[in-house]
Amino acid sequence: MSSLPVLVIGAGPAGLRAATDLAELNIPVVLVERRKELGGAPIRWKYHSLAPDFTPTEEVLGPMIKFCKNSSNIEVIEEAVVEGYGGSAGDFSVKIRKINGEVQDRKVAAIIVATGFEHFDATVDPRYSYGKAPNVIGINELEVMISEGKVVGHDGKIPKRVAFIFCVGSRDRSTNPWCCTVCCGVSIKQAIELKQLLNDVQIYMIYMDIRTIGLWEKLYWDSMEKYGINYIRGRVGEVFYTGEKLLVKGEDTLVRGPFEVLFDMVVLAVGIEPGEGTKQVASALKLKVNEFGFLAPKIPNIHFDSGKEGIFLAGTCVAPMSVEESIAEGSAAAMQAAKLVSRTKIIV
Ligand code: SF4
Repeated sequence: MSSLPVLVIGAGPAGLRAATDLAELNIPVVLVERRKELGGAPIRWKYHSLAPDFTPTEEVLGPMIKFCKNSSNIEVIEEAVVEGYGGSAGDFSVKIRKINGEVQDRKVAAIIVATGFEHFDATVDPRYSYGKAPNVIGINELEVMISEGKVVGHDGKIPKRVAFIFCVGSRDRSTNPWCCTVCCGVSIKQAIELKQLLNDVQIYMIYMDIRTIGLWEKLYWDSMEKYGINYIRGRVGEVFYTGEKLLVKGEDTLVRGPFEVLFDMVVLAVGIEPGEGTKQVASALKLKVNEFGFLAPKIPNIHFDSGKEGIFLAGTCVAPMSVEESIAEGSAAAMQAAKLVSRTKIIV
């Protein structure tokens, strides 16, 4: 068995799980994270709770973060990126550069890439007036507000009418053609949380399709039956700031007619796309990317296999997915790395 560590790149749900599992097997880990904090997007964006059961994010990620910070089997290198590699499975050499310019050359037995995603930048699509009109925010920003228990507009007023617009930067060939798979469920979860937090708020969900798959579907029924949340099937053409309110113009695709509705706040269900970290690691490790910029596994249905022996993939750097799926993928990649470590002889 090799005594070399496994390099895990990215400390979001998938990377944390992979590092935790390996360390629990007594396999040393070097965990490299380009940001200052561990936890990935759920911690960076202060996700209040996770769909579908409103489990506090802290309950899911907190124990793994704590374990990774305290385990004697895990060396955490924050604010650092992997710049290149050489060697082969069981005996890789990697170059790790810290933000302060310090470079470390390390030997590792295997590499797990779990670099996560970025939220779609809605300024790219001018239809939604994001970044121009006040009170047009992304689901990521609303999650921060819910976390802090204070949802107010730019003027400090509590919104009375809120619209969620689905599929922003998703399922749209002018931006990203894929479905982000989770933003329907996350939006509905947030709408329910808004109902619990604010008195008398009216909420309208403007959607193309509702994709709350598996057990997430419960959110959809509860949102209507228990919380009186309204749904409009339609496409939004424009969000226009009147100087006081946000006028959302679009087409209702059920009744086949235009609609124009005034709101105090508009929440954009921004999608998932490959982030800078994924682009950087793809170039550093010379990994294949698909037409959309996600890391491409050798066989699309077997995510952990990068096609390069000893390099494994996990989580949203491969495809959009939920936190629970990312955690499972982290475990799957850890198992592949552990198998490699167990059959690699120590090279003296
Ligand atoms: Fe649209 Fe829902 Fe898919 Fe997100 S999960 S892209 S909101 S259909």
